Amino acid sequence: RQPIVAIDGPAGAGKSTVARRVAQSLGLMHLDTGAMYRAVTWRVMEAGIDLDNESAIAELVSQSQIYLTNEPQAESALTPQDSLPLRYRVWIDGEDVTQVIRSQEVTGNVSAIAAQPAVRRELVKQQQQWGCQGGIVVEGRDIGTHVFPDAELKIFLTASVQERARRRQQDLKDQELPIVSLEQLEQDIQQRDIRDSTRALAPLRKATDAIEVVTDGLSITDVTEHIVNLYRT
Ligand code: C5P
Repeated sequence: RQPIVAIDGPAGAGKSTVARRVAQSLGLMHLDTGAMYRAVTWRVMEAGIDLDNESAIAELVSQSQIYLTNEPQAESALTPQDSLPLRYRVWIDGEDVTQVIRSQEVTGNVSAIAAQPAVRRELVKQQQQWGCQGGIVVEGRDIGTHVFPDAELKIFLTASVQERARRRQQDLKDQELPIVSLEQLEQDIQQRDIRDSTRALAPLRKATDAIEVVTDGLSITDVTEHIVNLYRT
């Protein structure tokens, strides 16, 4: 079987950037499962379906096509030091939602959608299919506990709420999205932590055999190297 690295952790712990870099270093694919829950959430909102209309959402998710890719930038745009040559893109039903799934509106609704059994069943099935296609770094909330319980390496990435809010604000700036105050972001993150870790189905939890990495004060390069070393030893 191809190797699987599972990276779980709460909102804003740096999973996406770290997972992408680890995947690049190890020559593996990268799968951002949060992007899949976000894409479904965007689709539900766009279709005007109530968040608690579970049967309509179940039907929509069973008919929706999610497509994710690491899209290489033009070779000439890369410098030798450029450690982020891959740009992650997300489509649902033919619509490129890469940016819009990061909006506050989608972020505010995603936990409610991700708590629904039919949504999780469908997306977990798709995630496991990715694992059959080759070695992969998968990031999410339930990867080490539910999606790939036999992963070769399991990481639980955390950071303080303050640090995570700062990073989220920087993400918004980088993506030229409307800026949100740190207080608001801290509140949102705490609420999402509570919802994600108290839901009945596949709650956010450190797998017993996962290695916890606390990223406060560490650079992305530090964290990436640490994980790559753990994988290689
Ligand atoms: O990682 P990200 O913040 O993009 O995830 C968005 C939301 O998707 C999480 O807050 C959580 O509700 C849900 N999610 C999940 N299981 C995963 C990944 C994300 O429930 N494996």
